[in-house]
Amino acid sequence: MRVGIVGLGLIGGSLGLALRAKGFEVFGVSRQPSTCATAIAKGAADQASTNLTLLAETDIIFVCTPIAVIAPTIKQLIPHLKAKTVITDVGSVKQSIVQDCSLLWHNFVGSHPMAGTEASGIAAAKADLFTATPYVITPTADTPNSAIEKVKQIARSLNTKIYTCTPAEHDQAVAFISHLPVMLSGSLIQTCLAETNPKIVKLAKKLASSGFRDTSRVGGGNPELGLMMAKYNRPALLRSLSLYRHNLEKITQYIEQADWESLSETLATNQAKRSEFID
Ligand code: NAP
Repeated sequence: MRVGIVGLGLIGGSLGLALRAKGFEVFGVSRQPSTCATAIAKGAADQASTNLTLLAETDIIFVCTPIAVIAPTIKQLIPHLKAKTVITDVGSVKQSIVQDCSLLWHNFVGSHPMAGTEASGIAAAKADLFTATPYVITPTADTPNSAIEKVKQIARSLNTKIYTCTPAEHDQAVAFISHLPVMLSGSLIQTCLAETNPKIVKLAKKLASSGFRDTSRVGGGNPELGLMMAKYNRPALLRSLSLYRHNLEKITQYIEQADWESLSETLATNQAKRSEFID
């Protein structure tokens, strides 16, 4: 199968590396010639170009650009494609993308590989990024089955765990487990930066270890990605933030009131329930 990838960054580059390792022929398009050259040198594409015409003969195209340019990219792609070409995207938000792109192309399937690192760009791409991670597919009632099957076939070949849900369900679920954590983790970094005593700041920087590394990781990632999550998943993210604020307020009150029993119960519930979200 001939696979096209637009946007040879962390996700597009990693997809190219993984798919070439599985024997797919990969055609990559990116904005900058230097990114295309790196993609070839790294083995993330068989051919790469800044020109979308390179993708004219592909069977399936993954649009891996920033969220804001996914629909405009598909608009530019359309004049070059055969009617049976499947287009999918990897955007971290699904409702607005699926709504816009399904209108542009009948063979469009929204998807979201739930994998990433705090780094961005082709230099950070790695072949095993998707192994054993969730791959969410968000078809609508009108999405052709043949297109869904093609995306699933590729997701299976990447050894991912495939889940299917509606775009709205996806957006609320990822608001809780992906987009809210980016904002909370970012607020943690902001809180540390707000300390005014330079001696304490210096000491905190020296003492920060695995706990701070874990809790600050997603907040210190690609700022463009965080901004896109907030802009394109605004209602679901606001709902999650509001529930979070309520819980933070409850914990603050327990501490203010020295209500150690309630705090202890909350912490014990957290310890017991965390494993339901993550092994
Ligand atoms: P990234 O590393 O910054 O890569 C995006 C790439 O898109 C850049 O390398 C850039 O290529 C290219 N690009 C930008 N505008 C373009 C255009 N108009 N035409 C062609 N290429 C263009 O970002 P990423 O983390 O891979 O994210 C890409 C997508 O994956 C986003 O939609 C995001 O929501 C989704 N996603 C991200 C993660 C994550 O954790 N990072 C996880 C799952 C899904 P040049 O270098 O050529 O400028």
